[in-house]
Order: sequence, then C-alpha cells, then structure tokens
Amino acid sequence: MILRFQSREGQFRLNVEPTTDISTILPDVLEKLPKDAVASSVSISPKPHGAEARSLESLKGITFGRLGLTHGTQIFIDFKSDEPHANGHSLPANRLNGTDVAPEEAASSIALPQDSSQGLLKNPWETVVQSPLDDRLDKLDGKIHRKSDPKLCRHGPKGMCDECQPIEPYNKEYLAEHKIKHVSYHSYLRKLNQGKNKYQQGSSYMPPLSEPYYRVNPNCPSKHAPFPKGICTKCQPSAITLQPQEYRMVDHVEFASSEIVDKFLNFYRNGGAQRIGFMYGHYEEYEIIPLGTKAVVEAIYEPPQVNEVDGVTLGDWDNEDSIDELAAMCGLSRVGVIFTDITRPDDPEVGTAICKRHIDSFFLSSLEIMFASRYQARYPRPSKWSETGKFGSSFVTCVVSGDETNQIGISAYQASNAAVEMVRADIIEPSADPTVMLVKDEDEENELGRVRYIPEVFYRRINEYGRNVQENAKPSFPVEYLLITLTHGFPKDDASKAPRFVKNAFAIENRDALGELQDPRDLQKELRAGANKVTLDTAGGVLAVSDFHVLCYIRSLGVLSKVSFPLAFITSFQRHFTNRIFRTKSSSSATRPCPTTPRLAPPSCTHQVGLPSRRSWGCSAERSE
Ligand SMILES: [Zn+2]
Ligand SMILES: [Zn+2]
Repeated sequence: MILRFQSREGQFRLNVEPTTDISTILPDVLEKLPKDAVASSVSISPKPHGAEARSLESLKGITFGRLGLTHGTQIFIDFKSDEPHANGHSLPANRLNGTDVAPEEAASSIALPQDSSQGLLKNPWETVVQSPLDDRLDKLDGKIHRKSDPKLCRHGPKGMCDECQPIEPYNKEYLAEHKIKHVSYHSYLRKLNQGKNKYQQGSSYMPPLSEPYYRVNPNCPSKHAPFPKGICTKCQPSAITLQPQEYRMVDHVEFASSEIVDKFLNFYRNGGAQRIGFMYGHYEEYEIIPLGTKAVVEAIYEPPQVNEVDGVTLGDWDNEDSIDELAAMCGLSRVGVIFTDITRPDDPEVGTAICKRHIDSFFLSSLEIMFASRYQARYPRPSKWSETGKFGSSFVTCVVSGDETNQIGISAYQASNAAVEMVRADIIEPSADPTVMLVKDEDEENELGRVRYIPEVFYRRINEYGRNVQENAKPSFPVEYLLITLTHGFPKDDASKAPRFVKNAFAIENRDALGELQDPRDLQKELRAGANKVTLDTAGGVLAVSDFHVLCYIRSLGVLSKVSFPLAFITSFQRHFTNRIFRTKSSSSATRPCPTTPRLAPPSCTHQVGLPSRRSWGCSAERSE
C-alpha cells in the first residue's frame, strides 16, 4: 500500500506493507528530508501541526497495520534540523569550485522570496500580451450614456447638457446610486489615467498602475552591499498604510449552471465532510458594472485531498498540469477555488447550515486569505498599463457556508493586492483567531536566524469616539482590510450563454472515499460502446463527452495520445460551438439546427432558481456593510 507523507518541506509517498515495522522506514524517510534533519527527531502524526505526534524510533515493533493505516492515508511528518542557523530553505553555500563555505563566512540566511526584484518594464504597452478580454475592455469608450431628462434638460432631442451628457465609468454618484461598492479594474485604470499623457507619445508616458512592493529592493541604486549588510532609504520598503481597496479585479462570479455547484456539494451531502475544488472557466465582460469583469465557471475539478468534518487538506495532485492543459484545450483556465465550510445545526428546524461567517465574525479567515493570496500571486493578470507588466489577479475564492438565514449559500471574494504582496514579502502570518492577521516580528525572525526587514504597518479605523484614527498593525490587525467581496449568480436563461459542458452525470474524480468511482464501464455507457458506437466527430459524440469529468477521465486513461486527443476532441468541440453560435446569432432556417436537444436549460438569475435538492442558489447582491 502507498502512504502519503506531508512535511514542511513538501510531500512524498512510500510503498509499505501493512506488516512493515514502522520504525524501519526511518532511512527512507530521512532520504526525502533535508540532509540536516535529525533522525531521532522525526515524528509522525495523523494531523497537521504535530497533534498526537509519535517519534518514528519509538514505534519499534509496531506495524502500519496495527495503527490501522490503509492505502492512501496521509501522515504528517515533523523533524528538527541540525543546524539552528538554517531557515529551512537554504542549502549550505558552495563556492564556484565546489568547496563548502564555512558557516562563519556565510552571510546570515534571509527568508526572502526568490523573485525579490520588482522587475520594472520599459514601455510595457509595447511588449505585454494581455487577455483578449482586457484588450477588448481597453478599446471600449466606457462612458455611461444617459437619457435626456424632460424635467431638467432644456434642449431639443439632439442637444445635450450637463444633466444628460455621458459620465465616466467611475462616477461616484452613479456607483452610489447603483449600490456598487468597488469600481471595476478597468474603470479604476481610466480614473488613474485621466489627464495623463497618451501612451502613443512614447517614453514620456508613465504606466498609470504600479503594484504594491513591500520587500527590500535587491537592486538598490546606491550601490551598497546587498541587504542584510546594507540598507538605505532608497531600497527599504516604506511604511504600509492599509486601506480598503477601492477597485475589484473581478466583479462577479457566474456559475454556468447550478448543477456544477450542486454536484460539488453532493460530496458534503453524502459524506458530511468538507470539500475543495478548483474552478475552471473563462473571463467575460460583466455588463452590470461599468467596464466590469466576471469569471464564468464551467466546471469544478476536485483534486486529491483529505476531507474532514472541520476542514480539508490538499494532497499531492500529480496530474495538475494535465488537467490545466485539458482545460486550455476547451478554452478554459483556472479561474478560482471553491470550498465548503458547512455545519448542520443540531436542530433541523433552524436550517441546513449554521451561519458562522457574518459581519461580526469573519467572511474569510486569516488562513484562507493567505491561501487565496498565494493563488492570486500564482495567477497574475497581465497589464500593459502597469510598470511591471502585470497587475493584481483574476483568481477568485468562493466559500459555501451557512448564510444569514442558516441556509447553504455561496460567497465570492478576492484578497486585496496589498494582501498578496504582504504574503509574497512574507511579512504576515495567520493567527489562531480567524478574524486577525499577525504581522511578523523582526526580532523573533532574527532569533530564528532570519535577518528580515519588516516595514511598519498601519491601518485606519473609526474609534469608539467616532474619530478616524491610525493604528499600528503590529502585532496584529483585523483581516477585513485584506478582503474584497464580489457578487455571484447564474446566467439569465439565454441560449447564447449555455454552459460549455451539457452534462454533469459522470462520477467526479477523487471521490473514492465516498465509494464514487470513475468506472470504465460508465464511460462505455456514456460512449455507448459496442454496436452503436459514438464517434467523436459527430454531434452525438460531442454530446457524449460534453462533461469535464468525462474528459479528464478519458485523458487519465491515456488511451488517446496527447496529439490525437486534442484533435479528435477539438474538432468536434469546435463544430459543436459553431453550430451553437449559428443558432443563437441567426434565426435563418438555412443554418443547421444545433444538435443539443437534451441540453439542460440554465436557471434564470432569480432567487428562486430550481434545484433538485434542498436549496436554491440565489444571486448575491452587494452586501451591506
Ligand atoms: Zn440634457
Ligand atoms: Zn539601498
């Protein structure tokens, strides 16, 4: 059987027998750990953070079978390092000729992220490739057009005055009137760019966007020895003042069909444990918000994970690249993550899920904000108008939990750009209190052998006397400064917005724990193998595989080579889409009818969308805070 081990250094697997003496795997474990790991300190634990840990050596004579460990069990490993000065990330230094550098010669290690330099680009608008959506939104005029008002306008039908002339997409009154709490990213960009030079004028144009940067600049123009030996006002990060972020990189999350969420939730319904999945989809213009962006979710892939009643732990995801590639073939990318945090009330009369996340507790915990920030850092949004060629991220984080009425509901968030940079710069850490984020302490870090420069962090709040005061965020500050709330919903019943995948019937991956297996026989059923085989280049064939989980399964079987798979699939897929576009764009009877008869109609965007089960997925309006 295979056991999965998780340590602070990463993950690995070992193949053992139930009859193996646990203490005998120590040499194999040490091989996977850093060279300076102390053998006698290696301990295993069924839970993260070393709860109920036992040292490997002490388990002499005890077999894996006796501990009840079965195939696939995740085990957490902890160990101490021999060298108190190492920070766990740095290997012993070597000279170019291969000889070791004596410890006293080496500079203290610095727990700074690898890519420390900000990487400013010259004329990013010439070289940066943006998403097609950003290119499209760049070209839009964006002005909000208004009808002339017979009460206020004193001009003819062709005239225009202050009362009716088009207004900017970031117009404060308009946003307030429509209860829009954050301007869209592109409106924000217009606002910053207002009155600046036109980029056509070349080098005199300054890109209006700059990302926050809280690290010591390793390329200091003052030419002193690099940090930690030298630091000056030019290379040290300035004090951070946290404020609520006024713009949103993504305004809205749209689930292409309620079935996508419903199937995801079945894991909780059938097993009572929490679940996490990555959302694959595409970004589109969101017309409700001026120059807005929405993430359209077409499928949720559920990676290997350990599920418990109070949370999930991600496991090794071996085919991650393969799934990303498959999604790309379908024109999709990873747009975000979704996880459940559902607790049933003891009294079913109360509702289906306790409302734990609300204005007086938290919406995303400090740990979840760090998790979201890491993913946002991994998926930056390319921008021609940022001095680094990128700005923020379009990666979203959705939570399924109890809402104010104790029903299961969805909420969508992003961490602020400041949060993402605070995580990149490694200056914050989650606290046991979910509402509070900790700022790392320079002295504590130094004691751990990490020479750090942690800038001052402040935030502003209204105090008990109603005054706007500045507070020092060390050692901790409220997480709400790092969070942006998005809206979510489902598409209007409109054929042009049909979901990308018409089926959701096939078993979902990595649900062995529930006894839901992806079975070749079920695939045969989908493909009606045998007498009347489905061929992938027919409309019926497309329908048969129009399920992201079927496609992932076919790919995992490796029966179609990497080359033939996309060809067979993409040609059929494109045909399917061409048909659909014909049908929706033209009512002419000359076009071939779309073969998608059994398509499940997406629910309309109301609070009463039909779900086969307990709950209707309403659309969230802006939250009143
Ligand atoms: Zn007018
Ligand atoms: Zn300097």
